[in-house]
Amino acid sequence: MGTINVTIWNEFKHERSQSPAGDLIRRHYPEGLHRTLAQNLAADDLVIRAVSLDEPEQGLPEEILQSTDVLVWWGHCAHAEVNDELVDRIQKRVLAGMGLVVLHSGHLSKIFRRLMGTVCRLRWREVGEKERLWVVSPSHPIAQGIPETFVIPHHEMYGEPFDIPQDGKIVFMSWYEGGNVFRSGVAFERDRGKIFYFSPGHETFPIYHDPVIIKIIGNAIRWAAPQEVVLDRITPQPQALEKILSENPLACLDTSSLHKANTEEKKA
Ligand code: ZN
Repeated sequence: MGTINVTIWNEFKHERSQSPAGDLIRRHYPEGLHRTLAQNLAADDLVIRAVSLDEPEQGLPEEILQSTDVLVWWGHCAHAEVNDELVDRIQKRVLAGMGLVVLHSGHLSKIFRRLMGTVCRLRWREVGEKERLWVVSPSHPIAQGIPETFVIPHHEMYGEPFDIPQDGKIVFMSWYEGGNVFRSGVAFERDRGKIFYFSPGHETFPIYHDPVIIKIIGNAIRWAAPQEVVLDRITPQPQALEKILSENPLACLDTSSLHKANTEEKKA
């Protein structure tokens, strides 16, 4: 069994805030959400790094990104601080095959919105209500070993309508005590990359200490891991493999100037 290089990225702001909420969050995540996730996800087949926004190159210099098979993303209040240039680099690598697991408030991160192409808004309420999750795609790899239904005793409500594209495979659905429902686990593919959005993980509750939640995130990492990440694989003008017998009706035209313009456009 090969190993998977996992990088857990966290904006790491709430855990350092000097406030009653910060004190509460530090009780659950004394070293930061990313480090708790790294500890709880530890397994023989995962090589895990934990990085954060205030590190050099926002935690993802090229050598780290290029050696990452699956990127896990947690952000909330600092989405706007993430450089667009970094978002470009992450997008490129996801399209080439790197897996991406976006957690909780990461639904509004620049990288998730870029890959979805929609605004990714949802409805929310923070009163610590009960959330019940249901597995709705029991054969999906991310649902393996997960109970058909389970409860998070206290969570922030995330509710529909959730403005994501309709091509995602819904793996988990949530019901909240206050009556709302939500697509809480949705799997997407974009070019070669697999992307999983999973909503549990509000920072003031100890959700990343729940073994079922950790098992789901671990399953998502293993599902999203690529066989290989293939950059620049496209052959834009392939030679015909078979002899083309059709007569080209445009053969009499000089189309070389048009081809040149097309080629330059594709390079841009
Ligand atoms: Zn939250």
